[in-house]
Amino acid sequence: MALDQTFVIVGASLAGAKAAEVLRTEGFDGRVVVIGEESERPYERPMLSKEYLRGEKPAAKLYVHDEGFYADNDIELLTGTTVTSLDPAAHEVTLQDGSRMPYSRLLLSTGAAPRRLALPGSDLTGVRYLRRMGDSDALRAAITAASRVVVIGAGWIGSEVAASARLLGAEVAVVAPGAVPLERVLGAEVGGVYRELHAEHGVDLHLSTHIEAVVGNGAAEGVRTTDGSVIEGDLVIVGIGVSPRDELAAGAGLTLENGIVVDEFLRTSAPDVFAAGDVAAAWNPMFNRRIRVEHWANALNQGQTAGHNMLTPEGPDRPVPPMTAYTKLPYFYSDQYDLGMEYNGYAAEWDRVVIRGDTSRRQFLAFWLKDGRVLAGMNANIWDQGDGIKALIRGGATVEAARLADPSVPLADLG
Ligand SMILES: Cc1cc2nc3c(=O)[nH]c(=O)nc-3n(C[C@H](O)[C@H](O)[C@H](O)COP(=O)(O)OP(=O)(O)OC[C@H]3O[C@@H](n4cnc5c(N)ncnc54)[C@H](O)[C@@H]3O)c2cc1C
Repeated sequence: MALDQTFVIVGASLAGAKAAEVLRTEGFDGRVVVIGEESERPYERPMLSKEYLRGEKPAAKLYVHDEGFYADNDIELLTGTTVTSLDPAAHEVTLQDGSRMPYSRLLLSTGAAPRRLALPGSDLTGVRYLRRMGDSDALRAAITAASRVVVIGAGWIGSEVAASARLLGAEVAVVAPGAVPLERVLGAEVGGVYRELHAEHGVDLHLSTHIEAVVGNGAAEGVRTTDGSVIEGDLVIVGIGVSPRDELAAGAGLTLENGIVVDEFLRTSAPDVFAAGDVAAAWNPMFNRRIRVEHWANALNQGQTAGHNMLTPEGPDRPVPPMTAYTKLPYFYSDQYDLGMEYNGYAAEWDRVVIRGDTSRRQFLAFWLKDGRVLAGMNANIWDQGDGIKALIRGGATVEAARLADPSVPLADLG
């Protein structure tokens, strides 16, 4: 039925690979082309700051699919290939060699890229970023060779890299503007757990500290803070967040707002163009707002939903089975030293944090509430409460803080 159609996926990423898989499992028999600028077939990034960085897991564990998957499923995978422009009116994309590829439907799963440090000394040798497999390979070698590592930023990447560098035996300093690591997402109390964790593992923490330059003569020798002191380090790892790779969409005039704006079906403002993963600012009916999520599960799940919805015909002359709305709760996880956690939900702002359990033993649940309702919940070194947390968030009922904090009250009794 679709033999004459070409579905193009730009971004050989987790979201892109999952979309391609769904196209085939749901019976699409047209042409599927996945285009990615990296030389690798699609892989997952979380281990790049954890086991892979520490040399504990091989590259083979990172790939989304086995090597033969793409050929076996008649998916054309063009690696090492950059798409340079998109023309939604003509329904075609242009590749770096100037050739054009027409599409019937298009998915943009172009992800995100690390924000660059814009300070004097940012281009010194020894200033590094982490996004790709090759970055992680280079960092492992650099951490091993460094006499001291300075990590700029105490978000997820900065915190995880600091932990891995310590586990690799490096001397590590972290410098960040927040009063605690992960302050923006977790707030003071739970972020404080991570401050203690890193301090206990010997990280030299410089919190509430702003830097004004990377110093060195050709090669980095440290960072200078705004109070004029220098934190020494011959390897400077920058983890100050990511920006959506929305340049193709921008060039094509698609609606952008902190990423590519998509509706709950992951459709962009251009006909037949979808977006998924880190690049997509998707309307979330549950939170009644647009959310761009920069996490693994979102890329995986949105990729699947996008693949499914790309297959749904639209138009007055066709029967229109409903597309699937993407309504999953945001979810992410992090592992640092012996503290593993999962976080469900979305709390951009909250008026109360409730803890159940013992933060000093690092075994607890934490809940972020607004007007008595649970917006987000985290399980730290507890692994059987995720469903209960999700149900509380989805239920949307107001909960009594004292009962929420009481481990003897089952979460199911609170909704
Ligand atoms: C070091 C690290 C650790 C992480 N750890 C965790 C974790 O513990 N938990 C968690 O939930 N999440 C984690 N994440 C986040 C997670 O990996 C991302 O959310 C996920 O990779 C997003 O996938 P994506 O499919 O949106 O795109 P990406 O993975 O960003 O891939 C996009 C791809 O598109 C390519 N591309 C972009 N533009 C073009 C173009 N014009 N032409 C061709 N190709 C193009 C890019 O080169 C890239 O290969 C981590 C990320 C990193 C970097």
